Amino acid sequence: MIQNVLVLGGGSAGFIAAISIKRKIPQLRVTVVRSPAIGVIGVGESTTPNFPRHLFDYLGISRKRFYALAQPTWKLGIRFLWGSRGSFDYTFNLQLDSHYGDLDKPTGYYCDDDFNDASLPGALMRRDLAFPRQADGSPEIHGWHAFHIENKKFIEILEIVAKEEGVEVTDGKVTGSERGPSGIEAVHLEDGRRLTADLFVDASGFRSELLGKALEEPFISFDKSLFCSKAVIGGWERGPDEPILPYTTAETMDAGWAWRIDHEHLINRGYVYCPEFISDDEAAAEFQRKNPKAKVEPRIVNFRSGHYRRQWVDNVVAFGNSGGFVEPLESTAIMILCAHVQTLVDFLLHSSLEPTPTMRNLYNDLTYSSWEDIRHFLSLHYKFNGMLDTPFWKHAREDTDVSGIADFIEFYQENGPTGFCRYRMPRTESDFGLEGFLVMMVGNQVPYKKRHQPSQRELETWARHKQQFAREATKGIRCEEALAYVKHPGWRWNGDPAN
Ligand SMILES: Cc1cc2nc3c(=O)[nH]c(=O)nc-3n(C[C@H](O)[C@H](O)[C@H](O)COP(=O)(O)OP(=O)(O)OC[C@H]3O[C@@H](n4cnc5c(N)ncnc54)[C@H](O)[C@@H]3O)c2cc1C
Repeated sequence: MIQNVLVLGGGSAGFIAAISIKRKIPQLRVTVVRSPAIGVIGVGESTTPNFPRHLFDYLGISRKRFYALAQPTWKLGIRFLWGSRGSFDYTFNLQLDSHYGDLDKPTGYYCDDDFNDASLPGALMRRDLAFPRQADGSPEIHGWHAFHIENKKFIEILEIVAKEEGVEVTDGKVTGSERGPSGIEAVHLEDGRRLTADLFVDASGFRSELLGKALEEPFISFDKSLFCSKAVIGGWERGPDEPILPYTTAETMDAGWAWRIDHEHLINRGYVYCPEFISDDEAAAEFQRKNPKAKVEPRIVNFRSGHYRRQWVDNVVAFGNSGGFVEPLESTAIMILCAHVQTLVDFLLHSSLEPTPTMRNLYNDLTYSSWEDIRHFLSLHYKFNGMLDTPFWKHAREDTDVSGIADFIEFYQENGPTGFCRYRMPRTESDFGLEGFLVMMVGNQVPYKKRHQPSQRELETWARHKQQFAREATKGIRCEEALAYVKHPGWRWNGDPAN
């Protein structure tokens, strides 16, 4: 029976795993070992809505405390500077996967020209506003948001919470491991210590010390679908005339794309690129030219998109970058981390801390398909982005492997943005669902045969819906003002333990 859990790694993956396991199964002894000399990756700042759900609903962390310590900003979705229409917004609520009772067709059929104001969050985002305003002037904070959060700040708060939960944290560098009949018997530290455990959580980042190096689990590369593998990063202090944008921006670049993430005092940008089409120096130069205010960091971040075939091998489970990573276009790392951690906790509880091989196999099947799902989703972004004709983007349109979602694409190209597309989607557990896939197809104006010619009545009805969202959004509240509300000592969160 599992009694001791050793988590190797004190980045966001290690601490989220440790806190979640300890909080849900308090009888376990959980220790985090991490190396300050190796440090953390220091990038990874945009999330999806399952992240606040994990923190507040699943773990019961106080919102009041989280906002005070981590200083997050809100993310309603992603603004894509992308595709033949140049720009479209993807929000975390339903814009296109909806069907109004007074319209003949699902919403997507009315969005050939634009889908501005197709929902309230969409209308807010379009106006750089974070939330609707309540009658008393305060923000009405809905569940359809995620966070932007600085990686290092986030890890500091996770460490505080982990220690409060009873997680032991020790500094040390793992230099080797011992194999035993059930997997890893012990890890050896540089200072001579030998640490044993019943379950090892490998959260050692891209080094993947246990799953990748010690157990030599094969890596499944996504390099046929996702060609980028490097990033140059930089940012600048927010100026007084620069509002905090409540969304991540993904801007098409010559050989990849660039993110913009708005923190309260910092604006963070990064150019994710494909080294086969641009050198590091050229990428840095393009990045600097398009972001003259940015102080460009000298380091280049290298990554590979893909995952280890199994995430749970013998008594080792990997989370975060040590289990896999898919390039950050949809900010999926923390999303997948939280989902997998919850699945592991369920499996441990259901097996009374004695997981069987078939349980492990099931876990591996589920996590495998969640990686594949994200790969498919991201591959659509590349396949259909018709904005630029640079050699990289021509290559992306011609050669991105989308064979895993060929059924979905064929169905869409025949029938258009109908809800029935969901039955031709890969099995999905992500936050994206059909909505995400439709935003990519409609946003990129992927042609389909069965066009709908809306009648005058339909056009007027659709215009009325949009006007209603626009009217409500116009009264909305900006990030700066909403942050001032939630930071005020008198602010109360419903049911918050720290109220
Ligand atoms: C360019 C880029 C952009 C990204 N953007 C996003 C984003 O917007 N949103 C998102 O969710 N994710 C993003 N990510 C992913 C992000 O890196 C992860 O979400 C996240 O920070 C998890 O990191 P980690 O804990 O797995 O690894 P790390 O932060 O690297 O932590 C690894 C830990 O293991 C320890 N360690 C390693 N080896 C040893 C050893 N031998 N002995 C002891 N300790 C050891 C380290 O000291 C460290 O504590 C991005 C990644 C990249 C590359």
